[in-house]
Amino acid sequence: RKECLTGDFKIPKVKWEDIGGLDEAKNVLKDTLHLPLVRPELFGKGVNMRGGVLLYGPPGTGKTLLAKAVATELSLSFLSVKGPELLNMYVGESEANMREIFTKAKNAAPCIIFFDELDSVAPKRGDSSDSGNVMDRIVSQLLAELDSVHKSDKFVFAIGATNRPDLLDPSLLRPGRFDKMVYLGINSTIDAREKVLRTITRKFKLDADVNFYDIAKQCTNNLTGADLYALCADALSLALKRKTTEIEEIVKSSRAYVSVEDFLQCHDGQD
Ligand code: ATP
Repeated sequence: RKECLTGDFKIPKVKWEDIGGLDEAKNVLKDTLHLPLVRPELFGKGVNMRGGVLLYGPPGTGKTLLAKAVATELSLSFLSVKGPELLNMYVGESEANMREIFTKAKNAAPCIIFFDELDSVAPKRGDSSDSGNVMDRIVSQLLAELDSVHKSDKFVFAIGATNRPDLLDPSLLRPGRFDKMVYLGINSTIDAREKVLRTITRKFKLDADVNFYDIAKQCTNNLTGADLYALCADALSLALKRKTTEIEEIVKSSRAYVSVEDFLQCHDGQD
């Protein structure tokens, strides 16, 4: 069967301070997971059902990063499931994959299952055409597994990510399932983009006159976190290239300055 789980289910190494901004989303995740983790008895059997979180928004806005950071900070294993990879052309296999994911998650508990591109495995039921009710069965299986997590003593928490929440089957968003929706968007303010730039470059050696507010203002309009990361990576490689060129030039130019005295000085005492 096709492998649909990625990663090694270990605790990731993304810290809160690796994420610039997104304070509201960080708080929702912290608040939602902390109490059930430390006081599981408050969330028993159906009363205060422990629901999952759906992170939604354009690509590159930090959904995966956030899910990993919450796992790191709370010392939870992390199972990443790519929606399209879970689908299997053999009838029945995809449902089996879904069951297997939750079994593995329970074995790796306490853990987070991260469903990336959730819309690809959980579209509105009744919408699929030629694949018929195969998709419907996968959605039903996912719902059953999410509900079964509440009856288990193991701490398994589901986080979904999607660019298209409008495509999801509405039953997924009911209480106890992905019932908290958190939007992650393009960094619309200069301050927000400045925060992300500062975070990404915190280990860079910077010239004293680098001012991230000005940089954010001048050339980062409408950039996502991933775009800002690419900008910083490009700036760093440009700087490294320039340094290499400088060193090469010093080497080249110093050759031109080797004098007779240099030879004589080195020659001293060797007769
Ligand atoms: P997709 O929908 O395409 O899966 P995503 O929303 O999950 O995208 P991420 O994979 O979390 O996006 O982000 C891509 C990369 O962009 C990250 O690995 C990180 O380097 C950078 N990045 C995104 N947002 C931020 C942020 N707020 N602070 C620092 N880096 C960020």
